[in-house]
Amino acid sequence: MKGAETGRAAAAKVGFRSDYSRIHKSSFRVFICTPAGFIFVGKRRRMERRCLRCGKPLKGRSDKKFCNDDCRTDYHNDRRRAREKELRAVNRILSNNWKILSAQLREGRRDVPAGDLSARNFNFDIYTASRLLFPGRRIYWCYNCSYRISRTGIVHIRESACQNNAYL
Ligand SMILES: [Zn+2]
Repeated sequence: MKGAETGRAAAAKVGFRSDYSRIHKSSFRVFICTPAGFIFVGKRRRMERRCLRCGKPLKGRSDKKFCNDDCRTDYHNDRRRAREKELRAVNRILSNNWKILSAQLREGRRDVPAGDLSARNFNFDIYTASRLLFPGRRIYWCYNCSYRISRTGIVHIRESACQNNAYL
């Protein structure tokens, strides 16, 4: 349960809403038929279908997901906006990283302590391509800037077009 909550919290952070929370359980009573009549044997829970957008109970076809066309349109618009928001967030990080790397090169600083880049909000988790040079040594690209990080924490920045198969 804790994992699911964490997952939902993470999903909410990037703007997606979990559809699972839209499925509400309700119970129904179960009887068995005997010569003496119907005997109540207990309650069973069942999944009640609800509109993915507004959460109202759904009636009609079993594959119905929305109560009407407005809900369907709003739902898909919300999802599209959330995806676009996520893309913009990644693009902003790439753009900021690229500005930082380009500024270093422009100012003639090709070998820079990683801490200096971090201090400028460089995000080492996001890049446009990477390739393993040899075990333990990887080269990264942010568009036309490449960088390698040495064991001593120095980032070696070069201007270099991404090699053709690094995007694979
Ligand atoms: Zn609805």
